[in-house]
Amino acid sequence: MTLPPPTLRLDIDRDALAANWRALDRLSGKARAGAAVKADCYGLGVEHCVPVLRDAGCRDFFVAHWSEVAAVLEHVEPTQVAVLHGPLDASEVAYARETGVVPVIDSIRQAKLWTEGGGGACHLMVDTGINRLGISPKEISDPAVQALDVQVLLSHLACADEDSAMNARQLAAFRDILPSIEHRETSLANSAGIALGADYHFDLTRPGLSLYGGVPRPEMADAIRQVAYPKAAIIQTRKLSAGECVGYNATFTAQHDMRVGVLSLGYADGILRAWGGAHFRAGEKSLPILGKVSMDMIVVDLSDAPNLSEGDWLELPYNLPDAAQQTAVSQYELLTVLGNRFQR
Ligand SMILES: *Cc1c(COP(=O)(O)O)cnc(C)c1O
Repeated sequence: MTLPPPTLRLDIDRDALAANWRALDRLSGKARAGAAVKADCYGLGVEHCVPVLRDAGCRDFFVAHWSEVAAVLEHVEPTQVAVLHGPLDASEVAYARETGVVPVIDSIRQAKLWTEGGGGACHLMVDTGINRLGISPKEISDPAVQALDVQVLLSHLACADEDSAMNARQLAAFRDILPSIEHRETSLANSAGIALGADYHFDLTRPGLSLYGGVPRPEMADAIRQVAYPKAAIIQTRKLSAGECVGYNATFTAQHDMRVGVLSLGYADGILRAWGGAHFRAGEKSLPILGKVSMDMIVVDLSDAPNLSEGDWLELPYNLPDAAQQTAVSQYELLTVLGNRFQR
């Protein structure tokens, strides 16, 4: 039996995605832009995004987990895929060698594991202040680290989306360690780091958020286009009489008779309660959300749109900087929470 069409869609603007990569590649100056495609391309879907990025010219793809490798390998060459979390044990080393993807080595322990497992070209993450993964600068002289065949020497900025003194400190720390280990290329900047200027670009940049429409620094706003458009169908319309309430805890009470629509999406789809009070859009019409967001449903006011009925589609405005402002949820979280009931 064929599945009936969904009532929930996440439209992906592939032209915008490709244009964003090209813009970030251009903004990266002499460096080339890669792409962070971890977390299923920040929730938008590897199968929809990676081919577009590849066709736009991207050659360097970063995932976090080993479980994310296979989906990316459907579309690109193994040597173009790097795994940021590196190997935890011999089975992950074996998996890297079997698939041919490149581990990012993040500790002396991982360096030893990799070499003991047969080694080969790898990337090396050096921590310059974020204190998540990466060897510390003083560990770089360790023989296990010196024995690595380092393709790209990496570090990661903690505060690139702010005008923080930390950025220059991390840049200086990164520059300091470059002579301490042989490597073929260097990479420091994420999306926001690209906007910090040529000093931060090195050979390869690693944008993630901005590929998918995020604007971590205002100076990037003109270059970056929205990519993800959540849309939901009205599955029922109903009439409220003055005094009737909507939703859990009855937080909305109709002041007059009104017509409302029920949409089949909710916080289980990543439209969190933080969206309470926001508006959906139908063409020029702006339709307020009434009451609390439920797990699977949101009720909207159709007073201004008497022509809308069951089966018509509404759009949730998802311009990420504006949406983050409105919901107090970060642009990163707004993308990655979007659930699997959206047809992409
Ligand atoms: C996630 C990640 C990126 C991408 O960062 P954005 O801020 O999304 O551009 C780059 N490098 C590393 C190491 C990451 O973990």
